[in-house]
Amino acid sequence: MPRGGARLLQGGPIAAEIRQAVAEDVAAYRERHDRAPVLAVVICGRDAPSMVYLQQILRSCEKVGIEGRLVEVDGEAAEASVVETIRELNADPAVNGIIVQMPLPPTIRLRSVVDAIDPAKDIDGIHPLNAGLLRLGYDGFLPATAHAAVEILRRSGIEIEGKRAVVVGRSAVVGMPAAFLLVRENATVTVCHSRTRDLKHHVKDAEILVVAAGHPGLITGSMLRRGAVVVDVGINVVDDKLVGDVDFESARRVASAITPVPGGVGPLTNALLLAHLARAAHAQADAEPGAAAASRTRASVGSANQPLTRGAT
Ligand code: NAP
Repeated sequence: MPRGGARLLQGGPIAAEIRQAVAEDVAAYRERHDRAPVLAVVICGRDAPSMVYLQQILRSCEKVGIEGRLVEVDGEAAEASVVETIRELNADPAVNGIIVQMPLPPTIRLRSVVDAIDPAKDIDGIHPLNAGLLRLGYDGFLPATAHAAVEILRRSGIEIEGKRAVVVGRSAVVGMPAAFLLVRENATVTVCHSRTRDLKHHVKDAEILVVAAGHPGLITGSMLRRGAVVVDVGINVVDDKLVGDVDFESARRVASAITPVPGGVGPLTNALLLAHLARAAHAQADAEPGAAAASRTRASVGSANQPLTRGAT
């Protein structure tokens, strides 16, 4: 362990590298197709807490040359109108990727919305087809946060293969996909959740710990194995400050490396979403009738079937 505490795994510099690759890729797309790739962000009312996050995404789109479109469905909207809006975006050839504001209003069923998204435009990997591809070890679109949690390890040179990894949280969008990605990277993975007996016992065993529970201070330094690598996915607001699920000050004295909150997984999530969008745009253009075979030899961000361990996506 480094003197003075754990090594900080900062997401910012890695995110900047990814954004640079995406910007180059997007520039090539714009030159070839004479249009910008488009991300549609579907929202049901502007006062949801996730609005700040979505606006950040739109700003990041602009910086790399992606056109971000806010598609607003009335806050009182019925499920049918949200689904109809998504179907229109699916059918619009100018739209390459779709993300939907979460959480949805309680009157709208998540499943109906998720099922409506065209898997080829599902750049945050929430459609069952993409979830299934991940489960089977095939390439589809990955949920950006789970992707970021594992990518920050890879790009920081942390060895994953053969390690005992513990994921705290089993949600469909973060915990489970992070666990499957770690298995894909040849870790031996345990998934914990709110019904896990003796969480401390499992956490103590972890050489790599990924925490995505949404509970500030759930994990403290005394629970960790000395030298563990800790990825804190949690985002919580406590006393007007952003904090993770891990008690940072006690954990950094025991861990060998740890992601800060903010500044760890978050920036990478955002950058990877842009990378997924660029990939979707290229894949859709390649699938158009008459697309030149030459366009398939593109370098940089890469093709629809890119493995986790190569390139920006
Ligand atoms: P979620 O859907 O609420 O899932 C939380 C998971 O944590 C559930 O599986 C739950 O278990 C488990 N859990 C809750 N309390 C626990 C406890 N005391 N012990 C063990 N497990 C416990 O949340 P999510 O969408 O996965 O998000 C998780 C966190 O990541 C949140 O803080 C969220 O804000 C953050 N997040 C961060 C980013 C980013 O870019 N960094 C993006 C998205 C989300 P059960 O399944 O048994 O209920």
